[in-house]
Amino acid sequence: MSKQSENGTPAFLERIFDRLQVADDVRQRLASAKLTAQVSIPVRMDDGALKVFQGWRVQYDDTRGPTKGGVRFHPQVSREEVTHLSFWMTIKCAVVDLPFGGAKGGVCVDPKGLSRLELERLSRGYIRAIHDLIGPDRDIPAPDVNTNATVMGWMSDEYAQIERRQVPAVITGKPLGLGGSAGRVAATGRGALQVLQLWTQRQDKSPEQLRVAVQGFGNAGYHFARLAHEAGYRIVALSDSKGAIHDEDGLNPEPIWKHKHATRELKGMVYCDESVCEERDAERIEQQALLELDVDVLVLAALEDAIDEDNAGRIKAPLILEIANGPVTAEADQLLEDAGVVVLPDVLVNAGGVIASHLEWVQNRIGDYWPQETVEQRLDDRIGKAAEACFERAEQEQVSLRTAAYLQGVGRIAAAMSQQGTRTYFNERAERRCGGGASGRQSD
Ligand code: GLU
Repeated sequence: MSKQSENGTPAFLERIFDRLQVADDVRQRLASAKLTAQVSIPVRMDDGALKVFQGWRVQYDDTRGPTKGGVRFHPQVSREEVTHLSFWMTIKCAVVDLPFGGAKGGVCVDPKGLSRLELERLSRGYIRAIHDLIGPDRDIPAPDVNTNATVMGWMSDEYAQIERRQVPAVITGKPLGLGGSAGRVAATGRGALQVLQLWTQRQDKSPEQLRVAVQGFGNAGYHFARLAHEAGYRIVALSDSKGAIHDEDGLNPEPIWKHKHATRELKGMVYCDESVCEERDAERIEQQALLELDVDVLVLAALEDAIDEDNAGRIKAPLILEIANGPVTAEADQLLEDAGVVVLPDVLVNAGGVIASHLEWVQNRIGDYWPQETVEQRLDDRIGKAAEACFERAEQEQVSLRTAAYLQGVGRIAAAMSQQGTRTYFNERAERRCGGGASGRQSD
């Protein structure tokens, strides 16, 4: 939701700025991306033909640190989408107080139609194209939709070859043997479960009382469903890009995932051809019907805009957990709020991935690696602290959890920008008119 258009800030963000009484400088600086690069990536296909793919890297804001964010391979990737996603990364890193700004990358491609070799060439070609823009202190890519640890391994190797030195901290989400961090693969799902647990504890509910439907069975959706099942939640429905299944007695996500991937390995494919629908014991339902099930928690772990004006009124779940980025449109968000549906927002819920990425970046830089328990403990602590702060703020200021998360995130970004000096700092007369006390003044 709250898509960031380059021509102006959306109404939601304006309300956040007004509430925080941020300086005009901050509004202007957050109104557009700092850097947008569009690249053409020529790839030699297996049949000898050359195909040129379009890719983007958008660095939205770097006031709080080097920019950070994943790279997605998807046929719907566009400059506009990557810009929205880079804005959300900026907010997300600030919500959980990481020393990073926000960025995102993407290539417009249907990766499911590529062979392994073609995928490797495309991944390396993307890094060759954006090499000058990235670096451990500049901009740090990571996995996102349809990219994984293997792709990150190719990307960091390509960077190292161009640089003629090892620079593991330039990319996070790498395979363990190539400088990756223990706990990174499951981190987004783990962080999301941590936020859900803290929220449900606040409502005096136990996992056993809650029936959960999960839309999206990629890396984040799967690990969330697996960990939630282990924690005692009843997963009654699952869906992927091919279909959905439903079983009121509860589904066990792990064997379903293993089956899907075993078939893929047998067929020698990079991406899954199989679906959760192969699960014979469960009832098959429409993907849209999963969203409208009468469950306690609806988990959105697929793509943007899953809930819009058309279906918002049919949502029966009283609680939505946003694991995907932007799965609820701005219009739908208002309708859900009016209907009393609580939305645990993406910029908090899915921050586990970038939190673990930060831990990987730190380990790469100090050249020492921590056991999984250390990474998990630090992840739980950081996301837990951010979640509690958002819950408190929402209660104190009587606002939605999304508004509370944005107040936290934008507040930190605005504070950083103000410490560089705003109009009231540089213009003494304006300061006197505004009553003084401008941020950035304290240090003189
Ligand atoms: N793609 C993930 C996200 O949207 C992770 C980003 C990262 O680790 O930098 O949060």
